[in-house]
Amino acid sequence: MQTPILAGNWKMNKTPAEAVAFFEAFCAVHPARRDRSLWFFPPAISFAAARDSVRDRPDILLGVQNVHWERAGAFTGETSAVMAAAAGARLALVGHSERRHVFGETDAETGRKAAAAIAAQLLPILCVGETLEQRRAGTLEDVLVRQLDAGLAALAGDPTATLVLAYEPVWAIGTGVTATPADASEAHGLLRDRLTRRFGSASVAVPILYGGSVSPDNAGALLAARHVDGLLVGGASLDPGGFARIAAAAAAPD
Ligand code: PEP
Repeated sequence: MQTPILAGNWKMNKTPAEAVAFFEAFCAVHPARRDRSLWFFPPAISFAAARDSVRDRPDILLGVQNVHWERAGAFTGETSAVMAAAAGARLALVGHSERRHVFGETDAETGRKAAAAIAAQLLPILCVGETLEQRRAGTLEDVLVRQLDAGLAALAGDPTATLVLAYEPVWAIGTGVTATPADASEAHGLLRDRLTRRFGSASVAVPILYGGSVSPDNAGALLAARHVDGLLVGGASLDPGGFARIAAAAAAPD
């Protein structure tokens, strides 16, 4: 098992001052540990404040919640991967379900964003997941494979050393309805199989995170599930004490 990854996606929450206050409180209750990695995705406007707050915490990496695939240009409101990297980001969420379902981002655009992130030396976290209708229609595997293949389509060569996946069932995001550990294992297994078919044994290097209504109470069981290498946490990452409990729930690697 890889070192577990506990990631917090703050979505459109926390001003710069609130980001500073979060890390003061979080770092006080969660000292650095070598047996897990902590990743946070603050909103772009609060990124610099977050970065300055964790300067002395090499166990904490920061990323952005979205990138544009172009380096620069007339794209009002967007941030390029190159800019995010220059500001100190190491990671980028790509294809989060809110980008796909609220903002209408397509599979093809998601692929271009993943390629731009890698080109800018950011580690993309490619998010995939089915809607409830797709799950009920029995198309879980088709949807995951389609989103995965599209997300990788613009990447040159073998991306296994520069890629993270997140399985986030749309029906579990922000709803309080969590996939069971068995649901997570099944979907992660499908993704793992697809990666192995495409890239062979090197694909074990690609961590697969679970996301969807993770809480301090269910984090341990989800993290212990087969094929689950870490957690991507939305709402429950906003509270420093709650996220510290999730971070502490992580099992030590074998
Ligand atoms: C997310 O935003 O990636 C997420 C999983 O949200 P929540 O934990 O709130 O369901």
